[in-house]
Amino acid sequence: MVDKILERHAVRITPMRQLVLEYFIEKDMVLGLKDLEEAFPKSDKITIYRTLKTFEEKGIIHGINNVGEIKYARCKGFCDVHHHADWHPHFQCDVCLGVVCVDDAPIPNIELPQGYQWKSTTVMITGVCPDCTG
Ligand SMILES: [Zn+2]
Ligand SMILES: [Zn+2]
Ligand SMILES: [Zn+2]
Repeated sequence: MVDKILERHAVRITPMRQLVLEYFIEKDMVLGLKDLEEAFPKSDKITIYRTLKTFEEKGIIHGINNVGEIKYARCKGFCDVHHHADWHPHFQCDVCLGVVCVDDAPIPNIELPQGYQWKSTTVMITGVCPDCTG
């Protein structure tokens, strides 16, 4: 399964890339560089970092960068090289600091004043997740 995904996104298959992608699929959650360093303590940190960057560039994962440390989630849309099609809000729990994708909520189209060029819109919702309620 991971080989197919890597192939589809034109990413050369390496053991590290297979491991990281498998981990993303298995965990099915938002992960940061630190999580992966902990999961693969024997692997070179630079290689892990580069793997994430490659995946982001090729449309396999997307970065969520306003949560302090950059976190990554697997793309579910039809993302491609340099073209992410999965703009959606993210939710961060104030208690456990866990982050999830809010996939089905569209981000409103905000009209910019004349002369401003849109590049991206980031929506971060904060609150308390079901695990931390009660
Ligand atoms: Zn994406
Ligand atoms: Zn929580
Ligand atoms: Zn997301």
